Amino acid sequence: GKPAKSGGGGAPIDTKGITSKKSEDLAEWYQQMLSKGQFISYYDISGCYILEPSSFAIWEAIRVYFDKKIKTLGVRNCYYPIFISQDNLQKEKDHIEGFAAEVAWVTLGGTTKLEKPIAIRPTSETAMYKDFHDKIQSYRDLPLKRNQWNNVVRWEFKNPMPFIRSREFLWQEGHTAHMTEEEAGVEVLQILDFYAGIYEELLACPVVKGRKTVNEQFPGAYYTTTLEGFIPATGRGIQAATSHCLGQHFAKMYDITVEDPAPRVEGEPSKPRLHVWQNSWGFTTRSIGVMMLIHGDDKGAVIPPRVAETQTVIIPVGVTAKTAEEDKNKLYDTVAEIAKTLQDAGVRAETDTRDNYTAGWKFSDWELKGLPIRIELGPKDLAKGEVLTVRRDTGEKASLPIADIAIALPELLEIMQADMLERARKEYEEHRVTVTDWEKMLPVLNGKNVVLIPHCLDGDCADKVKDETAARGKEITGVAEDAKAPSMGAKALCVPFEQAELKDGTKCLRPDCGKDAQKWVQFGRSY
Ligand code: AMP
Repeated sequence: GKPAKSGGGGAPIDTKGITSKKSEDLAEWYQQMLSKGQFISYYDISGCYILEPSSFAIWEAIRVYFDKKIKTLGVRNCYYPIFISQDNLQKEKDHIEGFAAEVAWVTLGGTTKLEKPIAIRPTSETAMYKDFHDKIQSYRDLPLKRNQWNNVVRWEFKNPMPFIRSREFLWQEGHTAHMTEEEAGVEVLQILDFYAGIYEELLACPVVKGRKTVNEQFPGAYYTTTLEGFIPATGRGIQAATSHCLGQHFAKMYDITVEDPAPRVEGEPSKPRLHVWQNSWGFTTRSIGVMMLIHGDDKGAVIPPRVAETQTVIIPVGVTAKTAEEDKNKLYDTVAEIAKTLQDAGVRAETDTRDNYTAGWKFSDWELKGLPIRIELGPKDLAKGEVLTVRRDTGEKASLPIADIAIALPELLEIMQADMLERARKEYEEHRVTVTDWEKMLPVLNGKNVVLIPHCLDGDCADKVKDETAARGKEITGVAEDAKAPSMGAKALCVPFEQAELKDGTKCLRPDCGKDAQKWVQFGRSY
């Protein structure tokens, strides 16, 4: 194909389509899907990407959905600076230990060396809690619920991957302070539910809710709850979002206290001040990558209708040099009318009447971009008062009476949305395999699955599961039939909230452990 202008008059695009297959070279396929579909552009700093309008539109849809949810909880949006002083960042020991290796520092202002380097936030606990100390004086100032939509920088050294692991990413970070552990705990789960709603209702991606094991939790957290996603193409898990209860660790470091609201008893000494209970929770642009990896196919992206910037495009077809001018005009007028009808019905609809492209070229172009439903209108359809609809996810074609389109098309979009989630959910379920025999771990992992195993919940044991599966993977790599067995170890992804029965006396699956199993734990290779 020839390079050409896109519909919106945007940058020239490569019209050749994706040259790699998802099942053969996932990394190359992913990169081509995102750049040829105009979701991202590359940038001259490793791990940083330009988010193009069609991916930013997905982020905006997420933001609108989530903002509405958290406002029902009384969370208010605000903004704290991107810079954190060195002293402040280092206040909570576990926290800084967890982040130290990834913090980017500003050391110069122009040519002048700064007296003390200033950190670029990897997350804003320390930026905000110094201020929470000032804001929270009385129990009447609680709960304090804040959120910000911002960027953070984590100078990761693992391979960057657009959306999934970038050095700068967009997210929201919520930070709240409560009087009691119970109240904080309720919110942690409420937020996790909202996050699951974004994945399942908007992005059509299934997730498993659970708790992180101690060695995988957020640095400085009391406990971390998580959504674990699954990428079928690689059989790897991915941490989809996390909601943390920070307990009172930060409150102690930052001296965030209130007087005891219980009435003072006459004659008794005044009670000590109480430390508040805090939560923090974050949802990032990684979610867009998860969705792209799950739903994309060899033709390009497949965007779930609820988050697609454009949900449908009406394309005139079957117009040739022989078509009478009057018929052609009638066809184009109807195309415009249908778009108007759909827009009035709340559908994000467009027309594609570019006359320098063939209809076939336009079909591929919109397929590459993941457009949910294409509508074709030709002279014959028009004569019958119908259009042809083509679903991006299944390729399924159906005729729809033009008279019904304002009702039928929104319905079809919703059906597609539901089907996408259903298919992905089935795939996740099929690849979440219960393993009760240590010898089966590697073959099952190599079959692109994550596993559920009985485990003791001990952090060192979990690390050994990872090391031993990695080492055994390496051993097997030498053997011909398993030449492609990855050597990545399986890590503890989460302790799912939904637990099958664990019979009394069940031992931890790792043979050398010998301790009793406490829970079914989801392990897997992961991003
Ligand atoms: P954390 O503040 O460490 O709990 O991270 C919050 C969420 O950010 C995690 O649950 C991940 O889904 C996501 N995340 C972590 N690192 C990155 C990254 N480098 N790029 C994009 N998203 C990330």
